[in-house]
Amino acid sequence: MKTLAAVLVETGRPLELAELEVPTLQAGQVLVDIAFSGVCHTQLLEARGYRGNDPFLPHCMGHEGSGRVIEVGPEVSKVKSGDEVVLSWIQGTGANVQSTIYKWNGRAVNAGAVTTFSRQSIISENRLTRLPAHVPTEAAALLGCAIPTGFGSVLNTAQARPGQSIAVFGVGGVGLCAVVAAAMVGCKPIIAVDVLAHKLELAKLAGATDIVMASSGDPLQAIRRLIPDGIDLAVEATGRPEVMVQALAAVRRRGGTSIVIGNARKGERLSLDPGEFNQGKRILGTWGGDSSPDIDFPRYAKLLVSSKLNLPALLGRIYSLESINEALEGLESGQVARPLIDMRLGAPC
Ligand SMILES: [Zn+2]
Repeated sequence: MKTLAAVLVETGRPLELAELEVPTLQAGQVLVDIAFSGVCHTQLLEARGYRGNDPFLPHCMGHEGSGRVIEVGPEVSKVKSGDEVVLSWIQGTGANVQSTIYKWNGRAVNAGAVTTFSRQSIISENRLTRLPAHVPTEAAALLGCAIPTGFGSVLNTAQARPGQSIAVFGVGGVGLCAVVAAAMVGCKPIIAVDVLAHKLELAKLAGATDIVMASSGDPLQAIRRLIPDGIDLAVEATGRPEVMVQALAAVRRRGGTSIVIGNARKGERLSLDPGEFNQGKRILGTWGGDSSPDIDFPRYAKLLVSSKLNLPALLGRIYSLESINEALEGLESGQVARPLIDMRLGAPC
């Protein structure tokens, strides 16, 4: 069997569409017919070569999606043929199979435990979660990365409580999800900070009570005007070290907490004033919002459904697999918060 995939052949170059031969499933692997794939900042860093030397070229890409199980390999018990699933880079229960090698005109193409920029893909059992009922497959794709990272950073990592003040720096796909979660918790105010006006408008729709345009003045001063003693919680979702510094500066003394989500480019360093820590401020990292897919994805899905928000419409624009490079460009320019690839577009019937 063959699948169409967008392959990174060389960093700094557009992805290439390739007809890949799908190998036989190994123990612990699952073949999935992908419905939607998200495109996130991590793939942009990868494609543009900002993650350093890439020893796996050429390789498949993408780490959040939704789809339906076509076939399961030996020893797979978590899902069965026909199940609707979420595909995520965050590890859950089940076998962990690190890699798959596809063939492209006789050439080997690498793939990790999960890749989603393809019509069909072989996925490790532990990167799949059965899709809870009542979640449209479009929104379900976002359960693979944007929602767990954004929701989880607020609900799990920060353990946000009603009435706490919060600022979200960078309202792309993940940051907007953090805003949505903060609104669900009842945080107040919810301050969105970004350099792009249209993203701040999206943040208002997602539940932000205040917006700060970081390109027209010092965002720290703007936040201090709203909360003079500093905010309880900050979420950084830009991947820029200077913003990580701002986010820590923005939280209050004695217990204010800043959570760093964004992926910086390889080699970049964070320089902080250690005095911030003596004031009792905290900085925390997070691994996918400290989400446990098997427990948290159904929980996030329920929250999403009850919020009645059309998150894909809020965050994104739909592209075909053939236009994947336009999706990457849309993400890079900030035009689109979270592009989604609809695998049915342009697919043979
Ligand atoms: Zn991601």
